[in-house]
Amino acid sequence: MILVMKNSATPEHIEQLSNWLTDTYGVHVNPIYGTGTTVLALVGDTSAIDQDALSRNSKIERITKVQEPFKLANRRMHPEDTTVEIAPGVVVGGKKLVVMAGPCSVESEEQIIDVAKHVQADGATILRGGAWKPRSSPYSFQGLKAEGLELLHKAHEATGLPVVTEITNPKNIELFLDKCDCFQVGARNMQNFDLLKELGQTHKPVLLKRGFANTMEEFLMSAEYLMAGGNENVILCERGIRTYETYTRNTLDISAVPVLKRMSHLPVIVDPSHAGGIYWMVEPLAKAAVAAGADGLMIEVHNDPSHALSDGAQSLTYKSFSECMNSIRRVAEAVGREL
Ligand code: PEP
Ligand code: MN
Repeated sequence: MILVMKNSATPEHIEQLSNWLTDTYGVHVNPIYGTGTTVLALVGDTSAIDQDALSRNSKIERITKVQEPFKLANRRMHPEDTTVEIAPGVVVGGKKLVVMAGPCSVESEEQIIDVAKHVQADGATILRGGAWKPRSSPYSFQGLKAEGLELLHKAHEATGLPVVTEITNPKNIELFLDKCDCFQVGARNMQNFDLLKELGQTHKPVLLKRGFANTMEEFLMSAEYLMAGGNENVILCERGIRTYETYTRNTLDISAVPVLKRMSHLPVIVDPSHAGGIYWMVEPLAKAAVAAGADGLMIEVHNDPSHALSDGAQSLTYKSFSECMNSIRRVAEAVGREL
């Protein structure tokens, strides 16, 4: 961090501020004296410094950050790619791509088991399905909740597929622990810091989706919340952001893939279903994600999309999922990955 001091800052002001920064944050302060202006270069771990509070100091002209505020998620701290094991042999990150597939919502035992069997037959290795659904309208289907979790577990028992499902409230963590293999934190909860802190206390993998109005730095700071609690099994998921474009449900920020992979060592997957919001867009967006370097995909698949209780418009039929997997496989091979 660099502090540019005002011309009115006296040597006493500078010494007082330097001592305070060292005593409070343990940083080393290197002063650089110019003609009139003094610049203070702060060396050490500056992540705990409250920049807003510092900016109220009337002797400071400007504050410039030279380091990202996220540490544990930062590739500088961990140059190797991290891999996250969801279940024995099911690893996110590395040469092999993962596909998490299933319905938006768990609707019944027959439905979730049938979808699980079909997506597994086409190469998905993780079953997705929502039991607690954070819907934009309170009048929309809210999910089967605890019953949905039980049904996901039944689908796991029937197929062996590990399960990823969304948690919206920290009070449900205990319930989820032995019923799923990976927590999903949805876009709407990306900055639910109480939830992140509690999930950070567990060791179960967390699929963290990017909020639709959040920067990549904010996204990585949310990952940092999980990791700071001790849970390093974090998977990042780009799922589209809100832009001025209304033709698509969201705008898939494909640049998030190379940027996040450069900034962080965490695996990055893409959800083309919530990005495009329309079934025919899923395949091309999925291909683009794999070509851009994503470590996997999350795709919504439904036994009968036109009667789905949520997100039917973007859900693939079994047939279109099968075709989609074939084209993803071809792109994966072209970029030296496997599916
Ligand atoms: C979902 O995965 O069904 C979902 C609600 O996703 P998002 O949080 O990305 O909207
Ligand atoms: Mn959905």
